[in-house]
Amino acid sequence: MNITVWNEGLHEKLDPKVAEVYPKGIHGCIKDFLEEAGFENVRTATLEEPEHGLTQEVLDSTDVLFYWGHIAHNKVDDEIVQRIYDRVMDGMGLIVLHSGHESKLFKKIMGTKSNELRWRENDEMEIMWNVYPSHPIMKGIGANVVIPHEETYGEFFNIAPPEELLMISWFEGGEVFRSACTYRRGRGKIFYFKPGHETYPIYHMPEVQKILVNAADWAYTEGATPVEHGHFPVPFIKTLEK
Ligand code: ZN
Repeated sequence: MNITVWNEGLHEKLDPKVAEVYPKGIHGCIKDFLEEAGFENVRTATLEEPEHGLTQEVLDSTDVLFYWGHIAHNKVDDEIVQRIYDRVMDGMGLIVLHSGHESKLFKKIMGTKSNELRWRENDEMEIMWNVYPSHPIMKGIGANVVIPHEETYGEFFNIAPPEELLMISWFEGGEVFRSACTYRRGRGKIFYFKPGHETYPIYHMPEVQKILVNAADWAYTEGATPVEHGHFPVPFIKTLEK
């Protein structure tokens, strides 16, 4: 399986506090724990690379794409968004992280004008409750995951209704949030996972890493079968007679 971890990669350059939490960037941290989990072909790509590091060649050889973005959603080229979208439709897995909820890509996939929500940076505790313990992405995860400090996200979260809801988060301030959701679009499998505000060491947490490792396995579609479309003048049954 080939994995590409895409990160905007700007907070790490602009804010020393973020660089301290993620010296190799959020993408570098995710790459490291995926490799520790046994994935052999993991590469990274960032916004400032030519074509955002997501050339057709890179995407064609990507089975699962991780996507983290926040302050530069509008700087992501529409052509590249379409390119990623097309690959998802053809069977590439996609894992959208945290503020990626407002990316052009995720909005296009959701079919929504915006995926807005309530939010606040207030160092609140988040308790993520596991509401689908038998799901493959929840393998090895207990009743809940406690994140000591995280950005608060709250409902209403203007996404398409999830196909499967795996976790519901509760925040110290009283908000709740659908924080782990799956979708299928075309032949691709999509997972949205809420945690991962850039100033907190959340992608260093073993339980968060376990969920994302499981998600990579789940989102992988091996050898997506080519689909036959169009006009078939000869009735199918006739083709069996030959
Ligand atoms: Zn955030």
